[in-house]
Amino acid sequence: MSTPQPDWHERAVAATFDGRALIDGVRRDSASGETFDKHSPIDGRRLGAVARGREADIDAAVKAARTAFDDQRWAGMAPAARKKILQRFADKILAAKNELALLETLDMGKPIRYSLAVDVPATARCIAWYAEAVDKVYDEIAPTPANALALVTREPMGVVGAIVPWNYPMIMAAWKLGPALATGNSVVLKPSEKSPYTALRLAELAVEAGLPPGVLNVVPGYGPEAGEALAMHMDVDAVGFTGSTRIGRRMLDCAGRSNLKRVFNELGGKSAFVVFDDFADLKRAAETVAGSLFFNQGESCNAPSRVIVHERIADAFVELVAQQVPQYAPADPLDAGTVMGALVDETQMKTVLGYIDAGSTEGARCIAGGRRARADSGGYYVEPTVFDGVTNGMRIAREEIFGPVLSIIRFKDEAEAVKLANNSAYGLQASVWSDSLNRAHRVARALRAGTVHVNQYDEDDITVPFGGYKQSGNGRDKSLHAFDKYTELKTTWIRIDAS
Ligand code: NAD
Repeated sequence: MSTPQPDWHERAVAATFDGRALIDGVRRDSASGETFDKHSPIDGRRLGAVARGREADIDAAVKAARTAFDDQRWAGMAPAARKKILQRFADKILAAKNELALLETLDMGKPIRYSLAVDVPATARCIAWYAEAVDKVYDEIAPTPANALALVTREPMGVVGAIVPWNYPMIMAAWKLGPALATGNSVVLKPSEKSPYTALRLAELAVEAGLPPGVLNVVPGYGPEAGEALAMHMDVDAVGFTGSTRIGRRMLDCAGRSNLKRVFNELGGKSAFVVFDDFADLKRAAETVAGSLFFNQGESCNAPSRVIVHERIADAFVELVAQQVPQYAPADPLDAGTVMGALVDETQMKTVLGYIDAGSTEGARCIAGGRRARADSGGYYVEPTVFDGVTNGMRIAREEIFGPVLSIIRFKDEAEAVKLANNSAYGLQASVWSDSLNRAHRVARALRAGTVHVNQYDEDDITVPFGGYKQSGNGRDKSLHAFDKYTELKTTWIRIDAS
């Protein structure tokens, strides 16, 4: 028997929102007492006041993190003990699934069904996965001559700054927190000003699970204020940043102007979805591209926003994609059946509508969508939109739109397909659809992207790395490779005398 769904509308009215920072295990107002108002993109409703963190708040959080790191209250624990606390943290996330899912949906507009079925479980799974891993990873002994023993060991960085975006607020935080905390670091997390609530609640749950005070601190605030203060801080050892390529550049600049802290950037994308004429099941390819692109309102860094399709099958493929569009019509995110919710705010909606205008002006043909939807709700919705007749030079093919807009480009042969796919400043993900094993391998090798999907999209999980080539970033989230970002490598060379 399935569990009855809560009445999400009723719960939304009763929900409470605590926007205070969490520093040294305690919720607190910003040092200046300033706040900013947070509204829901679903209907424009004011959710509450959020602490407006600035330099003083970041400094207090970094001091708490540094003290916690230096006295080894966390880093000094046996990995198995850290594991237990992080597993409890993951359990608490699952136990709070309804509360967290509702906060996420109200805060950034995604459908409640996905907050519940994707965001909460993926967050808990990520924390649990790194918890489980941390007492199973061994360091190295180098192949030295007999008169030496050389240890190659990993040590925590120290204080890690984590700056994350609003599109998957909990998951993006977990991708930093899982590996950074498991390896013994202390963390100062700066959530996006557009989606601060779940990060704050996650930190409370971590403290309840037994994470010592000061090990995880969360300071909400604006990017140029709280974010930049963290990136510029002289006592932060590394920054794990997820966000736009524009701000990723700034992260590198801040590191250069401060203490050369390590910077790991997970940035934007314009992922290619290459369909060859030897792929038989075009309907499945069309369902997949629509499902992946329109998921999360198109606000996914790895959204397959550039379809590159062989000219011989292009008309049939475009028709199949168009048939998918109606099922993604935006609707109330609090209704359990909704699959497309609201864009995060008015600014993002205007950006997306601006790109739709640019597509038409530059000569692409809008074959579906193209307009604002549900304006009378008071929220920010855009129809799922498809452009045919796109060329790779158009803005809608080159720039990350971060909304439900698909561009379709046609190619003549394999060499042209690869050239078009790689002709992008980004290199986050790509996919190749072909029934020829040789072609699938050949093209997968040729595509310059951190992840290449073959005859599927987005079916990966926490066990594999996630990150980009080129201007999509450096470093990798997920998998054991994420430990590389949050640990320093130490060599200890010991001389062994003959007697
Ligand atoms: P953004 O770059 O505007 O903001 C990201 C974070 O940086 C926010 O917390 C913001 O407050 C902060 N920030 C902004 N200005 C800052 C500054 N001057 N100094 C320090 N911090 C600052 O990005 P966004 O709009 O929140 O998110 C969307 C972007 O994130 C897209 O480009 C998307 O592709 C990318 N993204 C990438 C991945 C990935 O894993 N590669 C995952 C999700 C999102």
